[in-house]
Amino acid sequence: MRAKVVVLGGNFGGLTAAIAVKHELHGDVDVTVISDRDRFLFNPSLIWLPFGKRTPEDITFPVAPTFEAAGVEFIQDAADLIDPVAKSVRTVSGRVERYDYLIIATGTRENLDAVEGLRDNSHWITSLDGAVRTGEAWRRFREEPGDIVIGATQGASCFGAAYEFLFNTSYQLRKAGLKKKASITYVTAEPFLGHFGIGGLPHGEQLLGMFLRKENITFRTDTTMAAVDDGAIVTSTGEKIPYKFAMIVPPFAGQDFLRRTDGLTNAGGYVEVHDTYQSQRYDDIYAVGLAAAVQAPWTTPTPVGVPKTGLPTEQMAHVAARNVAAQIRGEQPASHKSFGDIPAVCVMDAGNNGVLILADKMLPPRNHGVLIPGPQNHAFKLAFEKYYLWKMKGGHVSLP
Ligand SMILES: Cc1cc2nc3c(=O)[nH]c(=O)nc-3n(C[C@H](O)[C@H](O)[C@H](O)COP(=O)(O)OP(=O)(O)OC[C@H]3O[C@@H](n4cnc5c(N)ncnc54)[C@H](O)[C@@H]3O)c2cc1C
Repeated sequence: MRAKVVVLGGNFGGLTAAIAVKHELHGDVDVTVISDRDRFLFNPSLIWLPFGKRTPEDITFPVAPTFEAAGVEFIQDAADLIDPVAKSVRTVSGRVERYDYLIIATGTRENLDAVEGLRDNSHWITSLDGAVRTGEAWRRFREEPGDIVIGATQGASCFGAAYEFLFNTSYQLRKAGLKKKASITYVTAEPFLGHFGIGGLPHGEQLLGMFLRKENITFRTDTTMAAVDDGAIVTSTGEKIPYKFAMIVPPFAGQDFLRRTDGLTNAGGYVEVHDTYQSQRYDDIYAVGLAAAVQAPWTTPTPVGVPKTGLPTEQMAHVAARNVAAQIRGEQPASHKSFGDIPAVCVMDAGNNGVLILADKMLPPRNHGVLIPGPQNHAFKLAFEKYYLWKMKGGHVSLP
């Protein structure tokens, strides 16, 4: 009987892992993807959606045809419980799917209860629904502009998106002739500007400082938000930073259902993995992308999380796929790549400008790291969005 691989989640990590396993075994394996969403979402473009530069249709596509073309079964359902003894996954609709090997790529959920008032009084762009609602708030704000706060709470990890939204907001204000009617404050848990949750890169603090000065943006670093009141961010020192419009990146948590499997996750709900992306507890269960736990090699005065971006997610998915294939062939998993050693390649968009972020390793100590500013990066990000959507829709997961 053919081995059966079940993949939970059908976005960056899940789509890549499912099709890569099929390729690794030249089709000689049954692969089933279970995902609660039936569309792929290119999350990096959520920064543009509130300004009407993208619609949900522009940045999503249905995944069923992609999986079908790759010979992968797709089930739209939410996983509810993993039983590592019976080697099965139960879904919310009551379906039970057996597996020989399981790959978890269920990403994260926004922890909107992390700060009092965050859920009710602010907006966020870290999910499609959140970005749509941020767009509605932005359109209301344009009618009656005022103070703006953009930031990321303690424990947040998606700082790149916060910076991108910050500079895009400033650019949109200028385009609309509203720059003088709105002051912007950036409020962040990062210990210094340009930390990005990856420990910063050479000259990053100066470069980000220059970008903020040029755009007349004031900032607070190393800040704990005590509450998000209706109209003001209250910091742990008691300072009130007023706003008429706020976009605050929340911290993430692992998906709740994973916590119900004994010994699978850490306290944050992330799956603890080896550098083979096998669970530390169960060697037939893998986790990749946002769902996998990553330990930062530092502590900061205000806690910050580590961002797990698209490139490391894909690399983790390929490592997991190779190791699952090896196990199915009766071999030992031989592919290793620790998260910290994966290169960092990212573009921070700034409206009509941007910064290319390159480093030989995601986490320090690094040998090389550079930030290259310039308008070419905005053009690169636009082109990359089109390329990436084409690549994933076509199931071309072996392409870079
Ligand atoms: C606003 C924003 C901007 C970003 N910008 C960049 C960028 O510029 N560059 C970059 O490299 N990265 C960027 N990222 C990060 C990038 O989006 C992530 O690296 C990537 O999405 C991680 O992929 P993943 O598959 O682990 O998780 P996700 O993409 O979150 O996918 C998780 C999948 O699991 C599904 N799922 C959830 N729960 C269940 C369940 N119970 N059962 C079944 N399925 C479930 C979800 O529906 C989804 O399909 C950005 C992220 C955000 C939010």
